[in-house]
Amino acid sequence: MKHKYIVVTGSLMSGLGKGIVTSSILKLLKLYGVKSLPIKFDGYLNYDCGTMNPFRHGEVFVLDDKGEVDMDFGNYERFLNESVSSELSITGGKLFSEVISRERRGEYLGRDVQIIPHITDYLKSRIKDVAERKKLEVLVIEVGGTVGDIENSYFIEAMRQLSSEEDVTFINLTYVPELEGVGEQKTKPTQIALRSLMQMGIQPKFIICRSQRPLEESTREKIALFASIKPQRVIDDSEIKNIYELPIKLMRQNFDKMLLEELGFENRKMDKKGLKSWKNFVNFLNDGVRNRARVAVVGKYVKLRDSYASVKEAVTHAAYANDAKVDLDWIESETLEGKSGSEIKNILDSYDGIIVPGGFGKRGIEGMINAIEFSRENDRAYLGLCLGMQLMAIEYARNVCKLKNANSSEFDPKTKHEIIGLMEDQKSVKLKGGTMRLGAWPVQISKGTLAYDAYGSQKASERHRHRYEFNNKYKQLLSRNGLVISGTSPDKRIVEIIEWSSRLGIGTQAHPELKSRPEDPAPLFRAFMKAAVEHNRKVSS
Ligand code: GLN
Repeated sequence: MKHKYIVVTGSLMSGLGKGIVTSSILKLLKLYGVKSLPIKFDGYLNYDCGTMNPFRHGEVFVLDDKGEVDMDFGNYERFLNESVSSELSITGGKLFSEVISRERRGEYLGRDVQIIPHITDYLKSRIKDVAERKKLEVLVIEVGGTVGDIENSYFIEAMRQLSSEEDVTFINLTYVPELEGVGEQKTKPTQIALRSLMQMGIQPKFIICRSQRPLEESTREKIALFASIKPQRVIDDSEIKNIYELPIKLMRQNFDKMLLEELGFENRKMDKKGLKSWKNFVNFLNDGVRNRARVAVVGKYVKLRDSYASVKEAVTHAAYANDAKVDLDWIESETLEGKSGSEIKNILDSYDGIIVPGGFGKRGIEGMINAIEFSRENDRAYLGLCLGMQLMAIEYARNVCKLKNANSSEFDPKTKHEIIGLMEDQKSVKLKGGTMRLGAWPVQISKGTLAYDAYGSQKASERHRHRYEFNNKYKQLLSRNGLVISGTSPDKRIVEIIEWSSRLGIGTQAHPELKSRPEDPAPLFRAFMKAAVEHNRKVSS
């Protein structure tokens, strides 16, 4: 089978939304029934994202197969509505460590091992191997970073070589700035960026332009001239209200048709139902809705919104499922520390629901516990994600079961009441990379619980990323005091879901946000949002 390749590069600066462009291309190909998957290359020398601080790099995304990958994978899965595997993530670290192990095994015996041809050959063989094994019609390769970075230069070189062996279409994303007051879109940076791409032997077939305003015709023509392509292949990527709109915006400019033609798939028919389902979601995001809810995420990495990218998306999907317009605020948990109950109430009272997301380390923990206490005592919907579930248990132990200073040994190693402790099999772990409890694990859910209502089943599978767990020694005491343990691992050793019995408060040891998709919202988010909407209705009536 002959495979085709699309390579997406970015010029001038990071943060232009290359991941969204790549996801949109994947979505369009899927809608036309073209079997395709992404590969993402990141030049850094980390083996994977597992050891990166979300503050610096955004969320660490976890796949079913335990892979800790770049947050772009979240968008790939959300757009494709499919789970993908971590072999689709190639980092500089993985690449070099593989080539060096080969060298140690003597696979290059007698040769000096070089970037070209050894690294580039290995890259090409890996990419071709994925296309072959997964029987792909098109493999869409996103090159992380910006053209001109040292970190991705050898990868771009490998893609140039690939283009002389295979059918490769290059697409470049660029930025068209405009100085305030001047009112003119400037193409010079793009001209220079194109020159450097072409110097590397790469001729893009499409140029996608981010800009503040829609592309002017003259801008389009000028870029086309310098890129040696037709003006209609210079695509406007300005002014979308939400990321999910991009596939539709691309279609409006006939990008889908031109791309199919370029790939030789012009006969493919659009899946009209699939398109309608996507458009319904996009229209929902842009238009009026029936219900409302105000939700606060109380976390410790809120200054960098990307740290909680999947939480934000899962909230949006749950809003869609509940036909609700959600005002979502981000509250730095440290700002809730050292405050009285009435001060906390002043800050949080306008919210119908509170989410405490995942996190590591002591900073901000007490603020989150204050938010949980407020939520429980004031009848608000609560959703605790991983750390948020652990803190829900601690709050319950302290304030309902009166276990003074109850804590997790992660934050207070000497705590008298270790409600949350290091998992048994983590105790001997010394290495930091890839050693947490990771990936998809089954959850067994008890009937007659909120969790059962949400999942509609006694079985679920969710993705995990943690080292600590609920201490089973406290199971009885907390249950006796009304905390419901509604989900465990099938062998019952790990507490997976807890809930308050009287109102919607759920904490899960998993990260259900990682599997939430517009076309398949995460059940716990959906249930949380339903409760938040009900609360909103109650207080507004
Ligand atoms: N720090 C906690 C643990 O390791 C929670 C992790 C998380 O929220 N992902 O168990």
